[in-house]
Amino acid sequence: MKQNNGAPALPHCSGCGIQLQTVDTGKPGYVPEKALEREPIICQRCFRIKNYNESSSVTPDQDEFLRLLSEIGTKNALIIHIVDIFDFQGSVIGGLQRFVGSNPVLLAVNKTDLLPKVSNWNKIRNWVQKEAKDLGLKVADIVLCSAKQNQGFDRLLEAVDLHRGNRDVYVVGATNVGKSTLINRLIRDYSDLDQELTTSRYPGTTLDMVNIPLDDGHYIVDTPGIMYPSRYTELVGAQDLGVLMPDKPLKPTVYQLNEGQTLFFGSFGRFDFIQGKGHQSFTCFVSGRVPIHRTKLERADELFANHAGELLSPPNPENLAKLPEWTRHEFRIQKGTRSDVFVSGLGWVKINSEEGAVVALHIPKGVKTLVRTSLI
Ligand code: GDP
Repeated sequence: MKQNNGAPALPHCSGCGIQLQTVDTGKPGYVPEKALEREPIICQRCFRIKNYNESSSVTPDQDEFLRLLSEIGTKNALIIHIVDIFDFQGSVIGGLQRFVGSNPVLLAVNKTDLLPKVSNWNKIRNWVQKEAKDLGLKVADIVLCSAKQNQGFDRLLEAVDLHRGNRDVYVVGATNVGKSTLINRLIRDYSDLDQELTTSRYPGTTLDMVNIPLDDGHYIVDTPGIMYPSRYTELVGAQDLGVLMPDKPLKPTVYQLNEGQTLFFGSFGRFDFIQGKGHQSFTCFVSGRVPIHRTKLERADELFANHAGELLSPPNPENLAKLPEWTRHEFRIQKGTRSDVFVSGLGWVKINSEEGAVVALHIPKGVKTLVRTSLI
């Protein structure tokens, strides 16, 4: 048998048993050619899991992922749904409830280290609870955690123990939410990972899942990360991903704006204060590496036309050209409300509107945006 590129077929991964291949990085069993010299030979996914580092997930298309979820619904499972607090609405799996049957769902809200130091955790937990409820998600428990900083992890393990009973644990999440980081923590606590990883394949799909054996004969099942093209972070390359994704606690920046003023977030997006009385307060929660540039609304189009990718950067002109064209979204902010104008993967602008306001966003077509009750 030969690989797609005509090269001879490779052996099976000694970690998970899958047929190895060197052709397609996005498909299961991928191993970089130079890694074939290592002994034992394992696929990149197992290598990453064993070495406790970055994402191990092969991204399936959405339909396949949903099929996989409905399979989980037929099993006796505890589901850990991991979401990213910086991209809550972008990373939550819409409609999860339909698929999980009567299985309990633990909502692990990761990356809490990114929230400003002064955050009121009770308030944040209540906010998550309400947002989850509004999305139709019934959760058995909510755990705020930071896989990176090892915070909230004891609480997560307690919640897993409390709800697991006689069940396997399935970990589901969108890409980049920190699922691998979290799984690696679970492995350290629950299992002696050596050569014991196994993958199972769901009938009729190309999805492989990694089973991590627990001491009591059950498994933690790492499912592939789902990719939502509506997240800004899925549209950009590695360079801009490092800009968009904060790696330090957010430092909210407050702008007092009058109507007719605009904020540019590099060339990632633009926020216009179109209409509203007096000075109003707009607080930007974006990564510290996204520079904010204030200008007049009437100058904004021209500024972008002449300086996108230069004065207004990142992205650089080459990366900017790879992004979809901007579309404009207009929002009416009600009087006396505290709202966030949220952009999946970029962050949000909090508006304390005593008087009500009309604002507009310009962001690449397809990127999710919405107005929500303020998180902070
Ligand atoms: P996966 O794609 O869901 O498996 O996510 P990874 O575990 O590979 O993490 C994606 C990115 O998020 C990496 O850059 C991680 O360093 C980062 N990350 C993961 N957990 C945390 C966390 O708790 N806090 C922060 N700030 N970053 C995290």
